[in-house]
Amino acid sequence: MECLLCNSPFSRPPTWMGLFTDRGQSPLCPRCEGGFVPAEGKPPISDWKGTPYEGALDAAVSLYSYNDVMKTYLRQYKFLKDAALAGVFSEALRHAPILKGRTAVPVPMHPERLAERTFPQVEELLVRAGIPFVPLLEKTTARNLGRMGRKERMASDLLFCLAEDAEIRRIDYVLVDDLYTTGTTLHHAAHVLKKSGARSVAALTLIRA
Ligand SMILES: [Zn+2]
Repeated sequence: MECLLCNSPFSRPPTWMGLFTDRGQSPLCPRCEGGFVPAEGKPPISDWKGTPYEGALDAAVSLYSYNDVMKTYLRQYKFLKDAALAGVFSEALRHAPILKGRTAVPVPMHPERLAERTFPQVEELLVRAGIPFVPLLEKTTARNLGRMGRKERMASDLLFCLAEDAEIRRIDYVLVDDLYTTGTTLHHAAHVLKKSGARSVAALTLIRA
């Protein structure tokens, strides 16, 4: 088969597992698979002390760091919309300890962005990993926060609201997203859940940028 990231041909010896499940049937060559590097440390949520969003997130974990292989992965995943690519991180996501005892909530895309991308990437990761989730949030703006300065980001209006019919219970939630960059997206999302009655809100991202 051909690697979905680098297009080089590779073969993998068949396994018993592979006969019954799609485990061990990675769409990536061993070299690309070995290129993902675990994230160092945890996202610095203490950066948000003294802002209106202080304490919105109770904990945060990222699984991988952002390197060239990951950059290629994200580009291919968005471009190919390949279910096999969504499954590359299923095992790692499923075994993330931060999911234990918490209800997963995907960070949504704005409908305009969703139309551009044509599929909800984060939800697809969860579906593929077999992690149950509740879509409680809606994105209220299509603005790109990456272009704002730090002050502007920290003071901007909420980027999310509760989805229609969403019911927030007094339980522990974990937001799931692809990237932790400045933490703005996740703090805004967490703030909405907290003020609606969530007991605690954690964050799990695939990548720490
Ligand atoms: Zn490859």
